[in-house]
Amino acid sequence: MQTYPAVNRFVEFQLAMDKVKTKRNMVTKNGETFEILSEEEQSAEVTWSMIPWRKIEKDVFKLQKKIYKASADNDICKMRKYQKMLLRSYKAKLLAVRRVTQDNKGKKTAGIDGIKSVIASQRFTLVESLKLSHKAKATRRVWIPKSNGEKRPLGIPTMYDRALQALVKMALEPEWEAKFEPNSYGFRPARRCQDAIQQIKLSIQHKPKFVLDADIAKCFERIDHQKLLTKTGLKGNLRKQVKAWLTSGVMEDGVFQKIESGTPQGGVISPLLANIALHGMETIVRECVNKNQTAQKELNFIRYADDFVVMHKDKKIILKCKEAINQWLSDIGLELKPEKTRLTHTLYPELSEDKVAGFDFLGFHIQQHKTGKHKCSKNLQKKLTGYKTLITPSEKSQKNHQEKLGEIIGKLVSKPIEALIKQLNPVIKGWSNYYQYSDIKTAGISSKQTKMMYSKLRSWAKRSCGTVNDGLNRYYHKRKYIMLNGKESYRMEWADSVKAIGHIAYHGDIHCSSTEYVKVKRNKSPYDGDLKYWYKRLLIHPELSTRKLNLLKRQKGRCQECGLYFTESDIMEVDHIIPLSLGGLDRYDNLQLLHGHCHDSKTATDGSCTKKSEKIDSSNNKHTNKDKAKIKSYKPDKLDLIAIERNSPVLRDKKSQRQDRLIE
Ligand SMILES: [Zn+2]
Repeated sequence: MQTYPAVNRFVEFQLAMDKVKTKRNMVTKNGETFEILSEEEQSAEVTWSMIPWRKIEKDVFKLQKKIYKASADNDICKMRKYQKMLLRSYKAKLLAVRRVTQDNKGKKTAGIDGIKSVIASQRFTLVESLKLSHKAKATRRVWIPKSNGEKRPLGIPTMYDRALQALVKMALEPEWEAKFEPNSYGFRPARRCQDAIQQIKLSIQHKPKFVLDADIAKCFERIDHQKLLTKTGLKGNLRKQVKAWLTSGVMEDGVFQKIESGTPQGGVISPLLANIALHGMETIVRECVNKNQTAQKELNFIRYADDFVVMHKDKKIILKCKEAINQWLSDIGLELKPEKTRLTHTLYPELSEDKVAGFDFLGFHIQQHKTGKHKCSKNLQKKLTGYKTLITPSEKSQKNHQEKLGEIIGKLVSKPIEALIKQLNPVIKGWSNYYQYSDIKTAGISSKQTKMMYSKLRSWAKRSCGTVNDGLNRYYHKRKYIMLNGKESYRMEWADSVKAIGHIAYHGDIHCSSTEYVKVKRNKSPYDGDLKYWYKRLLIHPELSTRKLNLLKRQKGRCQECGLYFTESDIMEVDHIIPLSLGGLDRYDNLQLLHGHCHDSKTATDGSCTKKSEKIDSSNNKHTNKDKAKIKSYKPDKLDLIAIERNSPVLRDKKSQRQDRLIE
């Protein structure tokens, strides 16, 4: 047995990756590429799926709860002790690796190491090699287009750094969740945009207010490193590691660029670091008014990452707050962006700086409108206020949505209608779901959106069929309605031939209500372990599809595969119990909701993949059948499982042998 050379941990993993990469046996059949795994790799694959994830998750969560509690009690000594335990724990490392290799949505973007997907045997190597150090590889620069046409830089870390960041985040997040201010909503577990919007609504519904709608200039690029590190309160190796990530620099087209300030966006831990940097803003704002309860209640501060608003009925107080915020920001190397910071009023345009009432926040537009006595809301004393608060999608969001629909429709000219339905529906449903707890229907925006989409579809039908009339005859028909007052009315409907396939969703199809949403409680955090509360909140998740929601209710909030409660940050996937490829049906009794990773391991063994590889077998690969039989007959050694649970050397020996073979 050969021991590996004394090199840096990252290199160890890299070596294992390269070795496997060159060995990979790829087979191409019908334009699709399949990978044939060796015997060892297959057994690693099985061992990985047999890891008792449920127990591991429970144990790690227990430790996180302890960190949360110690942090809430301000017992720093105890908290650091638990954090150290977590960072050294083999179970936590397994979870961190699973999170970045199986769960993460960005797993398909590679860092400068070029690694996108990681097979099980490599995952084990990665778990073994995770350790804090004072080094980090540069991130790869990727440009993401923003809604206003500008581009936003992202820095994608290497797979190794991603896994290590996930591990460190698991230790730091509970500590900060106990400290973060109640009105910070961005990038925190189980908090959503809709919570921030609801808080705004609650703040102004009884009283119109002045609003400071502000934007921090280049927030993530300018944060002072030294100040941020001091604020984290970290010491020793952990501090060195976080510092290494902050200063790792970026690679763009092979050119290295040093980084002097800011938190690199795109890493697993970056949103947490940004939140730590901006923590304390609410306290500063609150110090601008009297300490008594009523004065505090009248002042509202809502922050979502670097976007925030301050609201109060008195303009002087708002100006005082702005002053204080500017002062505080300059301390950490930041400033407000003057052209994007405005002082406005929720009801009266004449009181607003630019004579426009209302403001945009997170894609919503919030404004109060004067109304007659039948439509207006009441104040706390049950008296009529004479106005109504409306929360609608912002103009920009509406325009962007139509542009997106137009783009899809434009691309699919003379393609069958099925393609149109398949591509349009998720976009329409996603957009309307995001706004389902707003006044999107009351304000007539959902019907306006559908109308605008209809005109696009009309020209699509015309271009597909030649003339408008042909198009309409083929896809639409006019239906006559007799209304209540006896008058006749016409509505365009999809032709029956189209309805048979399914139909393009209407924006108004979903149930909308601006009053039904219940905001997250002030200082609640998922690390408090109140599973029932968090399950209830999951049921009002605006971005879950009806299908997922129904399955979630049927399964009482638990995953069918591992039995654990779903949490907000989990990826939920709908699975066909009997795979479609094996004749299963797309019906509710054949559906179940699983975690992303549970789904991964289920599909690997339920036969839907076997069917694919059988096609390959027949052509040119002789040993896959044998291997497959092995997978089927393979029952993981009981020792394997106990070994993982107890973190005992039995399995580690097996694994390191395997690694040695990989590295030789
Ligand atoms: Zn699960």
